[in-house]
Amino acid sequence: MCDKLYMPNNLNRVLKKFDFSFSKSLGQNFLIDGNVVEAIIRGAEIKDSDIVIEIGPGIGTLTQQIAKYAKKVIAIEIDKRLIPILEYTLSDFDVDIINEDALKVDFNEIVDSYRDSDIKIVANLPYNVGTSIVTNILEDRVRLESMTVMLQKEVAQRMMAKPGTKAYGSLSVLVDYMADAKEIIKVSKNVFIPKPKIDSMVIRLDPKNENKKDFEKAMFKLTRAGFNQRRKTILNSLSGDGLEKEDLKKILDKLGIAHNLRAENLSTDDYISIAKEIIKSPEIEIYC
Ligand code: SAM
Repeated sequence: MCDKLYMPNNLNRVLKKFDFSFSKSLGQNFLIDGNVVEAIIRGAEIKDSDIVIEIGPGIGTLTQQIAKYAKKVIAIEIDKRLIPILEYTLSDFDVDIINEDALKVDFNEIVDSYRDSDIKIVANLPYNVGTSIVTNILEDRVRLESMTVMLQKEVAQRMMAKPGTKAYGSLSVLVDYMADAKEIIKVSKNVFIPKPKIDSMVIRLDPKNENKKDFEKAMFKLTRAGFNQRRKTILNSLSGDGLEKEDLKKILDKLGIAHNLRAENLSTDDYISIAKEIIKSPEIEIYC
């Protein structure tokens, strides 16, 4: 099995072994630069507890590197000819390979099956459908920590454009409304096989989604409720205002936090865990 698939010799060996030919209509331009791969991984800030969804893994070049850092990778590839190649190049990694069109995938369903994890998208997107994939995911308000994606440079610039500039348009407003966007790295067209006509850019979008707002609200309410009545046990101080004692008990038991602790005994991580459980429970409304 080949490591470092961004090295042209390794890439070509795999392509030859499987007699693979590129499809232009599927935007198949594979990365051949280790520095760019590294910049994407660094920009995405992948933690070993993260579930990473990669759209368009190709032969698994980026996927292998993501899998070294993430808890698990879910790779969605439309081209069925690439599936046996991915099974070969990713055999040593924890990667679920899904042979589907990313434009038809229900990302909310995937995310819902990993409720306890942070989910990130990392992808070198196919040129022709890159914009639609990003906007679909933003509009569906998929619960993501971040989306680190390579797009055509001009599209990425339009996504980040400021009012009064030539690039500013409806795409810029949509992205700004839905996410915080930043440039990770500009990428020359020379670092792909086959070489495309235009340069690319990797950007990172951190969705300003409702879940994040709910989470922050729950965090602040919890800490305030706890410390306002610091002599009470957390079971008494944190409950009320819509959070039933019974629901709180279940959450504390699930997290292994004793009921009789006081607010000052909980760490920030404890408050984060409780807040995450609260926003995951549809029956608890007052905190949202
Ligand atoms: N990740 C690889 C890399 O960086 O070398 C390949 C990136 S290549 C630019 C885009 C990949 O997306 C190709 O593997 C292509 O087959 C796949 N693809 C194209 N359209 C897709 C779609 N609608 N859904 C899922 N994958 C798609």
